[in-house]
Amino acid sequence: MIKEFLSQHGEYHDDKYFKDLTTVKMGGHIAHFVMPENTDELKCIVSYLKTNGIPFKVLGNGSNLICGESEYNGVVISLKKFNSYEINNDEVYVEAGVLAPNLAMILAKEGYSCLEFASGIPGCMGGLIYMNAGAYKGSMSDVVKEVLILKDDELLWLDGDELNFSYRHSIFHDHPRWVIVAARLKLTKKNREDIEDLMADRLRRRKETQPLDKPSAGSCFRNPEDGYAWKLIDGIGYRGYSVNDVCVSDKHSNFIVNDGQGTADDYLSIAYQIQDKVKEKYGIKLVMEVEKFNC
Ligand SMILES: Cc1cc2nc3c(=O)[nH]c(=O)nc-3n(C[C@H](O)[C@H](O)[C@H](O)COP(=O)(O)OP(=O)(O)OC[C@H]3O[C@@H](n4cnc5c(N)ncnc54)[C@H](O)[C@@H]3O)c2cc1C
Repeated sequence: MIKEFLSQHGEYHDDKYFKDLTTVKMGGHIAHFVMPENTDELKCIVSYLKTNGIPFKVLGNGSNLICGESEYNGVVISLKKFNSYEINNDEVYVEAGVLAPNLAMILAKEGYSCLEFASGIPGCMGGLIYMNAGAYKGSMSDVVKEVLILKDDELLWLDGDELNFSYRHSIFHDHPRWVIVAARLKLTKKNREDIEDLMADRLRRRKETQPLDKPSAGSCFRNPEDGYAWKLIDGIGYRGYSVNDVCVSDKHSNFIVNDGQGTADDYLSIAYQIQDKVKEKYGIKLVMEVEKFNC
């Protein structure tokens, strides 16, 4: 029944696994996976799932998720087909499924400053807005003008200052059933070469300091108010520490990487040990930046 319904309202699959859809390459079978093509299909799907009390999760590029091995019995909605954008003078309208590094490159080529800070963040625009993702002192809150959301079967625009943005947080954390459909971002005209040089420089710095050659979900912990999570992790001697195939990166100790067949249990076992030991030694509670799902 659910399979038939979803197949009529998007591209449907029942053979998807989180390990193939997340950058850390972990996680079990997804009972139902659907990719709507447009807002009409998305509306029908979300309305049906809500009416029938069926759990669902919207997936971006899976670059901030640690998913458990057990089957997820709900529906994963991917917005990868929401992948168009339109530049209009001082703003760009962009759909939620567009990858941030791709849009950053396109904007740079046109001489628009906007997403330089995000050019190395491997997420979709929906995920970046949800997380208020940021780097190098910039974050989505600096560039989001407004966001188009699906809420209670209605599409509506929310203004940037209604989104409760703070460090790696937005209003969407408190409303997991709202779906980010698209956004308008502010653009500033700048010299194309300057933008491209800045992006290249930042990418080089990332390559030097982050284990980009290994599956990860980026930084495991948020930085505490005055300092860096990696320094605290180094302070408890956890750089290089491993449980089965999961390891605290030697290159950047706030990255926990999957060296092969690692699972969410392995990942979380390390993360919880770090939290306990950092609390014991420094009295600081490290908060996870990655999101646990279905585990
Ligand atoms: C190598 C690496 C480097 C990274 N560097 C950074 C960095 O510098 N700065 C930073 O902030 N992060 C960084 N990250 C983390 C990650 O890329 C960001 O958190 C990103 O914003 C997640 O986007 P995503 O599309 O992958 O979201 P996902 O991981 O797919 O989802 C994250 C959350 O957003 C929700 N979500 C996604 N799309 C929507 C939507 N359309 N509507 C409603 N909810 C939605 C999901 O349900 C989930 O709760 C890094 C990750 C990696 C692997």
